[in-house]
Amino acid sequence: MRIVLATSNAGKLREFRALLEPLAIEVQPLSDFTTQSVDETGLSFVENAILKARFAARAAGLPALADDSGLEVDALRGAPGIHSARYAGPGATDQANNEKLLEAMRGIERARRQARYRCVLAFMRWDTDPFPLICQASWEGIIVETPRGCGGFGYDPLFELPGRGLTAAELPPEEKNRLSHRGRALQELVQRLEQEMKPLGALT
Ligand code: IMP
Repeated sequence: MRIVLATSNAGKLREFRALLEPLAIEVQPLSDFTTQSVDETGLSFVENAILKARFAARAAGLPALADDSGLEVDALRGAPGIHSARYAGPGATDQANNEKLLEAMRGIERARRQARYRCVLAFMRWDTDPFPLICQASWEGIIVETPRGCGGFGYDPLFELPGRGLTAAELPPEEKNRLSHRGRALQELVQRLEQEMKPLGALT
């Protein structure tokens, strides 16, 4: 099966391909079809995931998978949340976002630095699909005071796994894919696709 992935984030594309290739699902990035993107005007991860999947399905004429994800920090009352990609401003780099987060959390003790990544996936068979498949998962962590590791992307160098002592950027990629919010949401999506949509292959 060939699907379009509604992202231009190279880190996410890498992670999705690693997880879907073994299932013979070929993932094409949205950039193969259009240079445009949709405004993420939703107020929740699920709304934004649906907006992105619908746009990608329309642009590519293929079944579409979109994720909307972000980091939720308790001490910041859920920020950066749905604004994670642009926390330090429109088009912000990962480094600028990480610096802003460290600044916002300066002086907060370790016991109050709990956070979690959230991920919502939306899979739509076509752009007007009235029954999108929605899967979601979270991944708990602690925001450290100094970045560590060079794997992953985004906030990974600041996101430490309790009991593991490593940041997400220090984990081998296969381990991150297995444990992460995105990896687990995707594992669920794959199971549900297999159960509920066996005839889907006929669409592609
Ligand atoms: P989206 O592309 O609108 O879903 O934005 C997600 C943003 O949340 C990313 O740009 C990152 O800043 C952050 N994020 C989501 N998942 C991860 C992850 O696995 N590692 C690090 N940062 C993440």
